[in-house]
Amino acid sequence: MKIRSVKGTADVLPGQQAAWSQVIDAAATVLGRAGAGRIDTPIIEYAELFERGVGESADIIVQKELYTFEDRGGRVLALRPEFTAGVLRSYIEHGMFTLPTPVKLWTHGPLFRAENVQRGRYRQFHQINFEIVGLDTPLADAEAVHLMWATLAGSGLHGHGMKLGSVGDPEDRAAYNEYLRTELAPRATELTPVSQERLRLNPMRLLDAKDRGDIEIIKDLQRPLERLGTAAREHFDEVRAHLDAWGVPYEIDPGIVRGLDYYRRTAFEAHYQGIGAQSALGGGGRYDGLIEQLGGHDLPGVGWALGIERILDALAQEAAATSESTVPRQSPNAPPSLFLVPLDDEAVGEAAALAHSLRAHGRVEHAYQRRNAGKGLKDADRSGASHAALRGASERETDSWQLKDLTSGEQRSVSEQVLVDLLTARDAR
Ligand code: AMP
Repeated sequence: MKIRSVKGTADVLPGQQAAWSQVIDAAATVLGRAGAGRIDTPIIEYAELFERGVGESADIIVQKELYTFEDRGGRVLALRPEFTAGVLRSYIEHGMFTLPTPVKLWTHGPLFRAENVQRGRYRQFHQINFEIVGLDTPLADAEAVHLMWATLAGSGLHGHGMKLGSVGDPEDRAAYNEYLRTELAPRATELTPVSQERLRLNPMRLLDAKDRGDIEIIKDLQRPLERLGTAAREHFDEVRAHLDAWGVPYEIDPGIVRGLDYYRRTAFEAHYQGIGAQSALGGGGRYDGLIEQLGGHDLPGVGWALGIERILDALAQEAAATSESTVPRQSPNAPPSLFLVPLDDEAVGEAAALAHSLRAHGRVEHAYQRRNAGKGLKDADRSGASHAALRGASERETDSWQLKDLTSGEQRSVSEQVLVDLLTARDAR
């Protein structure tokens, strides 16, 4: 029997790497220019970090999505299901509160959740994550929203939209949860088991219900934004004022809530219509109190996470909608690359040796056996190279190579130095 990849996981094949890099490079540029330092934390952490870090009503806990296992010492470890808890654990462990405020951190990598697999929902998936620690000003929330939007724009996406809401201060949340408990008490048994569990632990999370029956039951209830206290309302209005001033497009979503328990005040999401039911590209919010909860100082924070697979899905949708043409073999501004074709046995070794030395300057591949010119050029074409260079007895006599431009078809006899120049000169074509 063939061994297949684990359900809900995927390989990122060579042909997909450029798209992945495009997204990750955009994040590195946009977030780096905003002063964020790149951080990498381990994929495994003690499970209790997430149990404390995401809260008992989070889907990850309620729906048992955490992958855990015991190490040999009997401690329970978990594959990280989200970034914030690990990044903040590292922040505390390395005493980053002594650094100038704010501390901005970004990371990307794989996360693991035992999900019901469907389009846009996998068991191993990848996120870009950004956190600003130490600021409680609405300016930080607005910057976070702006940078999420800008990271998506920098990735090449155009049709994404931001949604903005607020879950209020802890006392607003408590009052709102009480309101929901009272309103829903008579119909509680009609809710799905997951929603009943949410009603018990953190009723606000019911607003994220995906079940039609649940949605019907809650649809006429007030949303958190309609029941904010004065301080949270002022904070929200200031976040909006900044975003308006900067021209960041967003719409208000009064019912936005975040999946983790510790969010307060600002909550936001990025969406892209047209990638199916899971249209959220990412989400974020303010989590004052979480750092203290994890054993650090009482410091405020705001952050977000973008799902890389969903961004790639959105980019592919957008490319399909905006261009009829197929993807070019090599993009016009890609650097020149070379494929060496040995036309006789002696040239096989010559091609390999030359390829090794030319790789100091650029991408060079070669055929591993003698080829006739026609087959060799076909190999070159298939490799995606921009140029081919052929060598047989007559080229050996003059110590030259036959260089062919695979786009224009032009062909000329050249020295090895010309091949170096071709690879180093970006505008050689
Ligand atoms: P969350 O960490 O749940 O707030 O999710 C933030 C973003 O990560 C979502 O908007 C998705 O883009 C992405 N995401 C979350 N869970 C998954 C998953 N199971 N598979 C793929 N992407 C996911």
